[in-house]
Formats: sequence, structure tokens, C-alpha cells
Amino acid sequence: MNLKNFLSDFSDLIFPRCCEACDRSLVGNEATICTSCMISLPRIQLNGLHQDVIRYKFVNVPEVILTHSFLLFTKKGKVQHLLHALKYKGNKEVGLKLGFMFGQEMMTAGLLPNAGLIISVPLHKKKRKIRGYNQSDLLAEGFSNATGIPWSATALERIKHTATQTGKSKTQRRENVEGVFVAKEKIIHEHVIIMDDVLTTGATLEECMQTLKTAGCKYFTILTIALAEH
Ligand SMILES: [Zn+2]
Repeated sequence: MNLKNFLSDFSDLIFPRCCEACDRSLVGNEATICTSCMISLPRIQLNGLHQDVIRYKFVNVPEVILTHSFLLFTKKGKVQHLLHALKYKGNKEVGLKLGFMFGQEMMTAGLLPNAGLIISVPLHKKKRKIRGYNQSDLLAEGFSNATGIPWSATALERIKHTATQTGKSKTQRRENVEGVFVAKEKIIHEHVIIMDDVLTTGATLEECMQTLKTAGCKYFTILTIALAEH
């Protein structure tokens, strides 16, 4: 054992680090998520039923070339723990790691889209100030680190707070997010990836696309870390 490993094991004894998904102690060079969780997190199969659910959400948006969610969100499940750590416990590493894993696995599956830029769905600046960061930026950064596709946190700005989408009809959801974003710069890439944390109704992502079209984008890949089942 070299000195670095020794010191890291020693520090684990004094300040135990825990897996953000299952809460067990991390060992050796594990970081943020333990090896067992990394392997067993519930991936969404590319040709399974959930993939059809995701595609159906954007069935009326012909500009969407590809949609994919990495993991299945279930109440009290590991994915919920991870997203909670990312959004409410200030653990930015969770975002970077999940984004990186997502990027790596899409590359391995030969599914990396031919897009020029990753754009994260922005938070309203008040909300961002309270949280200290935008969790979707970290997911986009992690995905970018794995794939080499550049990302931008400044292409879009959220100019309105929105009430929760829960309990609203599809039309109400669309109306609720209308005019929420503005494009801050001209985008030279025709095909961009939009990255968000959880896919629920898809209404917010649709509004992002509408806004990005005014900035020059023509085709979209929609990627989210999790799909919420209803
Ligand atoms: Zn774990």
C-alpha cells in the first residue's frame, strides 16, 4: 500500500464517506457512488417500454431527433436519493458523476448524437442563488467531460418563476411555461443537446426548444438523467 492509499484509508476511518445512493461507507478509491450502485442503478433500456414512454412525450415535435433518459426514478429509490443529494444537499459531485456515466454509456452504446453543443435547462436566478448552482449545469458538464461535446450554461435564461406542473392538464402545462425562457446568444449549431435532471411532462423542454429555435437551432436531442414514472 502506498502512502496516498494509506492516508485515504486512514481518513475514511475518521471521516467516513458514504455512497449518496445507498448510504453505505465508501471504500478504497470509490467516490460519491459505490461500485455496487454504479453497476446496479436502474438504467432505462434502449428498446424497452420506458423508451417508448419518453419518445411519446415529444411525438408532436418533429425537430426532436433523439430522446433518452439515463435512469428510472422511483419513490424512495436510489435515483431519488442521488437527485436529493444533488439538489438539496449541495453535492455537486453527484451531478458531475451521473452526467459522466450517462455520456460514457451513450458512447459505448454507439448512440452519441452528432450535436455541436449541450445546453442545460436554466433555473431562475433567484432559485439558482438559493441553491448556489444549477444542477443541470453539472449534469451537462459531466456529460461533456465524457464525450468532448462542449456545453453552455449561458445560451438560455429563465426569466419567469413557474408554479408546479403537478395536477395540471397538458394544455395548462404548456401555458404555464410559455415565455419562461429567452435566448441569450445566437447559436451556430443546428443540432443541440438539451440536458435536464428529471423528465416529467416534457412541457419545459418543449418550451426550451421553441426558444432555441429563435436562436438558430433546428434539431434537438433531449437527454435527462431520470425519468419520473406517473
Ligand atoms: Zn451505494
